[in-house]
Amino acid sequence: MTVLILGSGGREHAIALAVSKDPQVQAVHVAPGNPGTASFATNHEVDETDPDAVVALGREISADLVVVGPEAPLVAGVADAVRAAGIDCFGPGKEAARLEGSKAFAKEIMRAAGVPTADAVACTTVEEAEAALDRFGAPYVVKDDGLAAGKGVVVTSERSEAVDHARHCIEAGHPIVIEEYLKGPEVSLFAICDGSRALPLQPAQDFKRVGDGGTGPNTGGMGAYTPLPWAPADLVETVTRTVIGPTLAEMNRRGTPFQGLLYVGLSLTADGPRVVEFNVRFGDPETQPLLSMIESPLGQVMRAAATGDLSGFDGLRFRRGFAVGVVLASEGYPGEVVTGRPVGGVLSADGDSDPDIIQAGTAADGDRLVSAGGRVLVALGHGETLTGARQAAYARIEKVSLEGGFHRGDIALTAAEEEAFTALSE
Ligand code: ATP
Repeated sequence: MTVLILGSGGREHAIALAVSKDPQVQAVHVAPGNPGTASFATNHEVDETDPDAVVALGREISADLVVVGPEAPLVAGVADAVRAAGIDCFGPGKEAARLEGSKAFAKEIMRAAGVPTADAVACTTVEEAEAALDRFGAPYVVKDDGLAAGKGVVVTSERSEAVDHARHCIEAGHPIVIEEYLKGPEVSLFAICDGSRALPLQPAQDFKRVGDGGTGPNTGGMGAYTPLPWAPADLVETVTRTVIGPTLAEMNRRGTPFQGLLYVGLSLTADGPRVVEFNVRFGDPETQPLLSMIESPLGQVMRAAATGDLSGFDGLRFRRGFAVGVVLASEGYPGEVVTGRPVGGVLSADGDSDPDIIQAGTAADGDRLVSAGGRVLVALGHGETLTGARQAAYARIEKVSLEGGFHRGDIALTAAEEEAFTALSE
């Protein structure tokens, strides 16, 4: 099987690496890819959001399967174009991608499907927004209804800040959604879906703020780990039954089956898991530790999902233990970053590409590797225990050099401390 993966980040490097381990995958291509994917796959300088260019590349390399990494090509209808050209495509069509593209649409589907989520009101005027804020009370949650790259959501105890954000979005011509606040730890659960069936991955948690202890501004994610030793044992089963199954059934009923990766962002509230958000593609950086654990043949699984028939798989297999991923960020991130600096220590001790380093914001400058973005790479660590996996990830990132580069020191720390405490008291 020849697989073409669209995208250029750490997520795509992780997908390409996992797919390349599938014995039925003979060739992995990435467009546009990054220096990490170039070390074991073939990169192509093609704009992944251009449906015609993607189809032309798919034909040129005789791709059997196209996997769409980021949301932008999905929203642009690239998956529809690839399928129309007769090539199997892992990723939802434009219509089903609205589960991520519009928060109001996602709420409408959840309401129709009876999926537990925060109560929400779509508003188009400041007066409606104020009434909704007062109805729910503090803390206030105000969301721009569209793709805002994580910057459209304000969660605050200050009513004036909530009203200001609502006014700002409405004046810019964007509708908004005001929600009830969900209290509880956040968990990500991903599922590979074929339109009616779903194969869930293991639960993961990511770390959004730039600083230790969850301080400082929001980022694309500074690290992640999986599985979650503290999560309820029936979490995956419960979310599959109460969220993923009903959502797939509702999308099917509307004639827009969801096929691809459904990312369920959850809050584990006192009333059980409730959905914070849906995304329609793998999440970064959870994908890096998650896919490093997968033992099932990912190329075959994704192709089965793309052709609407996962019935040959009764679940996904994962290696034992835990995986932790720590992001190395450029100086200045998440603000204006300094790029073009040499990145060292990326290869393994014997000079080969190292599967524990997943590249994102990197570029080749002659034969040097340089930084090219805010989040430069993820260092992975694995272990029988979360403590062991953390130690391995931190030992690996310490070997990477980047002037001004930094990382959080507390990825998976609380969970590892709880694990150690539980082990001591047993
Ligand atoms: P991203 O894709 O970066 O997660 P987004 O724009 O899709 O962002 P959401 O995921 O809906 O926005 O919200 C961003 C964050 O705000 C969530 O990860 C969560 O921490 C917080 N949040 C959102 N909705 C709620 C809610 N109802 N109650 C409490 N916190 C919330």
